[in-house]
Amino acid sequence: MTTLVSYNPSSGEPIGDVPVTAASEVPTVVQRARAAQPAWAALGAEGRGRLLAAAAARFEERGEELGKLITREMGKPLKEAVREARGCAAGLAEHLQEIAAAVATQVVEDKRIRSEVHHDPHGVCAAITPWNFPLMMPHWLVLPALATGNTVVLKPSEETPLCGQAYADVLAEGLPEDVLQVVHGADETGRTLVAAEVDLIAFTGSRETGKKILAAAADRLTRVILELGGKDPLLVLEDAHLEAAARFAATNSFRNAGQVCVSTERIFVPERIAARFVDLLAQAAGEMTVGDGFESDTRVGPMINGRQRDHVLRQIDAAVAAGAVVAAGGKGHHGNFIVPTVLSGVTGQMAIAREETFGPVACVTIVPDEEAAVQQANDTPFGLGAVVFGADDERAYAVARKLTAGMVGVNRPCGGAEGTPWVGARQSGYGFHRSPDGHRQFTQTRVVSRPRSDR
Ligand code: ADP
Repeated sequence: MTTLVSYNPSSGEPIGDVPVTAASEVPTVVQRARAAQPAWAALGAEGRGRLLAAAAARFEERGEELGKLITREMGKPLKEAVREARGCAAGLAEHLQEIAAAVATQVVEDKRIRSEVHHDPHGVCAAITPWNFPLMMPHWLVLPALATGNTVVLKPSEETPLCGQAYADVLAEGLPEDVLQVVHGADETGRTLVAAEVDLIAFTGSRETGKKILAAAADRLTRVILELGGKDPLLVLEDAHLEAAARFAATNSFRNAGQVCVSTERIFVPERIAARFVDLLAQAAGEMTVGDGFESDTRVGPMINGRQRDHVLRQIDAAVAAGAVVAAGGKGHHGNFIVPTVLSGVTGQMAIAREETFGPVACVTIVPDEEAAVQQANDTPFGLGAVVFGADDERAYAVARKLTAGMVGVNRPCGGAEGTPWVGARQSGYGFHRSPDGHRQFTQTRVVSRPRSDR
């Protein structure tokens, strides 16, 4: 039996291991999920919701312990890790009610026909998830998949198998056997799972892997929901509250060491306010302590591994070689830790302005006017999030509507109100989740129609 060893990215020490699921074993796991599915579906949304909602108390109670596991396995500051773990409990009952309401049968009538629109589970859902939010990413996919009546085979990232297993163990504690199972391994296991005749693939990860999954799914036209990477812009308008914009830029560029799909990866600032903005941003960056997530003053943890660290450092070096100016950080990196770095004078030709960075780097590009900011912000195949800062609300909103991202925040992060979707446009997403429309993507819509008997 092969094992997958998990390492602490702060120290490089091994922290545990899991058995890799053999390729020959994966179809058996899927068959078990298929066998368990009809009884699970038969419980109805309310019955399933009751069993799933009971997990909230367990996530809450074990928040500290799960948080510590997150920090050990992927390095983020403990406070953020505990918040992530407890986030699996927060609002769980309401969320399940929202899902149940979204997939309730609807009746639609015209003069002659009475139709019922059903939202049936697809069957077996493969959930394939990344490492950057090793509990929350499984939660966002597994929960709606189960609540809508599918059974689930989860393949967590090979970087965070212990967190993925812990998430599934806590959730599955109150569930019938085989409703939620886990397979472990790297891309090979993911490929095997995708090929194992599942009915829905719910994936969060890189655009490159998303494309491979879509191609593999084409063979059987398997349904897919893909949440992919981004290259999110921040547009700072001339009248913006500069301190607030710089504070946001620092938080959203360096949070989770920049390893967030909606990190601010490009910042567009007009010439007149650029110097002041860069100063404020550099100051905020300088105040962020880098280190082990268990140290109480740590704001920025390590890169997940040496490969990711090298990728980020390569982009920084290439940008500087091409004329970008280091306004903060840029040196003092050690182990997997990268010092929060602010680059100004970044141009659209540099790799750091075009390819996803996923590291603690804030890149400032000076633009002549709003129109150029919009044009450059949209000059990317990605389209996940975007943010506009400006004091004149109407004007900032008008700029927001010209952006091609799926989620745009005005004077705030891009995430929307409760009940709105998490949606990537263009090459950042294919299908989406959360919100009533998002929940329904975990189901197959069917219509049954009869003549109206009262006519
Ligand atoms: P990240 O680098 O953010 O983890 P990836 O897209 O590489 O993003 O990985 C996300 C998840 O997809 C991981 O669980 C990984 O093992 C899995 N994966 C990678 N390649 C494939 C593939 N070809 N088919 C299915 N899953 C894959």
